[in-house]
Amino acid sequence: MNSKEDKDLSRLCIHTITTKPWQIEEAAKNFAEAGVEGITVWRDALEGRNIKLTGKLLREHDLTIVSLCRGGFFPAKDLNKRKLAIDDNRRAIDEAVELGTSMIVLVCGADPSQPLEESRKQIRDGIAAILPEAAVAGVKLAIEPLHPMYADTRSAINTLAQANDLAEGLNSPSVGVAIDVYHVWWDPSLEKEIKRCGANGNLLAFHICDWKVPTSDLLLDRTLMGEGCIPIKQIRSLVEAAGFTGFNEVEIFSTEYWKYDQAEFLKKIITAYKEHS
Ligand code: ZN
Repeated sequence: MNSKEDKDLSRLCIHTITTKPWQIEEAAKNFAEAGVEGITVWRDALEGRNIKLTGKLLREHDLTIVSLCRGGFFPAKDLNKRKLAIDDNRRAIDEAVELGTSMIVLVCGADPSQPLEESRKQIRDGIAAILPEAAVAGVKLAIEPLHPMYADTRSAINTLAQANDLAEGLNSPSVGVAIDVYHVWWDPSLEKEIKRCGANGNLLAFHICDWKVPTSDLLLDRTLMGEGCIPIKQIRSLVEAAGFTGFNEVEIFSTEYWKYDQAEFLKKIITAYKEHS
């Protein structure tokens, strides 16, 4: 059977970092052969490459380029560092255009040497600064709230409510929210905030993986759907009830799975996707 006819995979997207040992060309070929239809590209996967040609190659494999990961990291106590961050985000918009994707995921950042509220203000200002370029480029900026364990250095936006507040405050069709189950599964306000996100037209992306119990690393020990404690199907149904019709993006950083033969890992991803998400 031609796996492209397998409707179950029509909304499956995989992040390049999930199969990090593969070069992007290898990932594209293997994803396409397995019937995967979407790819989210991490910027490190583009290093040393002609971005336009890489985008063309992905499209030749019939892959939809769901998003570019990632922009953000706006806050810094030092003004010069904040300016550099804004420059880097402008470059990310250029890269998204060259690649041929219409979305950038934002990991907003935090500077532990200042109060979280100050970092949040700088995030707002940073996004506002790049919004005109994003709008002209036709690129949407998806604010991804990160689990509070990352509030020290990775993001001062830690709940979906905060991401919704920020997106609504910026009030632009070029800004929305990316929901990653790993970051929000614990949140007692999740159902309410997913509804709010969808109702305001801000639900741009949905990332899936699972939370291993016990987890051995706060960053690099994500696991396959069904191997942890996140109610993925339940969250997906909330997201879909809120009107989301985009891709289900498998985003797993796992030093364990990166040691695997990646072709075997890809088979496991597809099985886990069909059975547990
Ligand atoms: Zn994510």
